[in-house]
Order: sequence, then structure tokens, then C-alpha cells
Amino acid sequence: MSEPPVSTEKAATSSSAQARELLQVDQIEVRYGTIAALKGISFSVREGEIVALLGANGAGKTTTQKTVSGMLRPAKGSITFDGKRIDGIPAHQLIRLGVCHVPEGRHVFPRMTVAENLEMGAFRFKSTDQADLERVYELFPRLKERIKQQAGTLSGGEQQMLAIGRALMGKPRLLLLDEPSMGLAPLIVAQIFEIIREINNSGVTVLVVEQNAAQALSLANRGYVLETGDIVLEGTGQELLADDRIRAAYLGEEIAAS
Ligand code: ATP
Repeated sequence: MSEPPVSTEKAATSSSAQARELLQVDQIEVRYGTIAALKGISFSVREGEIVALLGANGAGKTTTQKTVSGMLRPAKGSITFDGKRIDGIPAHQLIRLGVCHVPEGRHVFPRMTVAENLEMGAFRFKSTDQADLERVYELFPRLKERIKQQAGTLSGGEQQMLAIGRALMGKPRLLLLDEPSMGLAPLIVAQIFEIIREINNSGVTVLVVEQNAAQALSLANRGYVLETGDIVLEGTGQELLADDRIRAAYLGEEIAAS
């Protein structure tokens, strides 16, 4: 049996604490053959929140996102989205409910243009919603300048913008972002995080996986820390940023013994 997580969360520290739960993950176990990647984790995301999942390489962050988005099926436990059990529902059906995933590594269609990639994001609708398209170009003016450019020739940051933009074309209620800052220059990372905040302000709930703990926690209402398939710590973004264990393990600070 794993230890229960150490909670640093105080009651009702943010306005989002009043909101209802949009996503509830309850005791999920996920295995790759004999390897238990998730050992019965539970967490929730309230409507309107940004929640960060943190942890070292191999902790289980990507596995968690893939399980929520329907790419993996949990061996045990349940996942509830907007009051409906969704574990076992495949990813392409979950998109219809508004669960949209931007996986690690972006995965844009390299031979398609920027505009075609964005249209693909709206595939579940009969036609592309022009207002959504305008909104994406407003958020990412760089994409608008490159409408006809092949996605494979974009910079890493632009491809990340396109991957997020494509997900937005699916009208997400819950946006799952896996390592949006990976491999990007600090200035671009700052822009991406600012845009994630704007997307959230427009009403989209966000579950973000990040190695970049400082930036993710500055952005997030709440966070959970994963360690070898268990949640070991949870709290508001500010609480986790101030936590000695987080500062020592993820922010590269040495904590002097008192
Ligand atoms: P990273 O930041 O390195 O992606 P992570 O926290 O996202 O790490 P996961 O990718 O979820 O971690 O991996 C969790 C565990 O599951 C690790 O031990 C990993 O080796 C294992 N794992 C992940 N994918 C597979 C797979 N396809 N087959 C077998 N084991 C896997």
C-alpha cells in the first residue's frame, strides 16, 4: 500500500475552490505489462481551474494524461468527466465530449499547411467555425502570418502554438497539455504560458504536465506531485512553490537544514 499524499492545501484558498469538479480521477491503476506506471492515484480538476501535474522523469505524468484522454485504459479505478464515467471511452469519442489532448512532442501534420492543420482540429464538426479560427489567429498572430506554410517547416515554438491551436478548434472544455514548454527557448516558453492563461480565462479548464515546475506552479491554481506512480504532494500553486520539498527537488534550490 502506498502512503497517502501529504496535503499542503488549506481550505478554500482560491476562488476556484467553490467551483464544481469537472474531472474526477479515482484510484486509477495503469500498467504496461508487468510495470505499474500508476498505482491507484486520485485527483480532481474543478471547472475553470489550471491544475499542474509535476514529477521527475518516469513518475507517470504522461501516463496520467493519456489515461484521462482515453489513449490508455486503467486496469482499476474510475474517471468521471462532467458527471459521466469516461474510463474506457476511446480518445476520438472523448473529443466529442470536449476532452482535447495536446500530446508531448506536438505531432502536427508536417506536410499540411498551418490552415489545414487547424481545420483538422475541427474534424468532428461539419464545417470549420470561422469564429474559432479567428480566435486562434488572435491568440497566435504568428500562425496567421504563416497560414500557407507547411507545418513541418515551422519552428518548435510555432509547432507548439499550432498543436494548441488545433486542439482549440475542437472546442475543448478540458484541455490536456503535455510538456508545452519542452525544448523551447525561455522567451517562447513565457509566451506559451501567457497564452495558456488567456485560454483558461476564456473558460477552458486546463490540466498541464510540466517539468518546468516554477512556471507551471506560477500559472496553476493547484498542483499534484507524482513520484513513481503515486501522488505524494498536493496543494495550491503558491503553497507548492513555497514548499521546501518542491524547492529542493524541482526548483534546484538547496534547503539549508534548520
Ligand atoms: P517523462 O517526463 O520522462 O515523460 P512521465 O512522468 O511522463 O515521464 P511516464 O511516461 O508516464 O512518465 O512513464 C511512467 C512509467 O511507465 C515509467 O516507468 C516508464 O518507463 C513506463 N512506461 C511509459 N510508457 C511505457 C510503455 N509504452 N511501455 C512500457 N513502459 C512504459
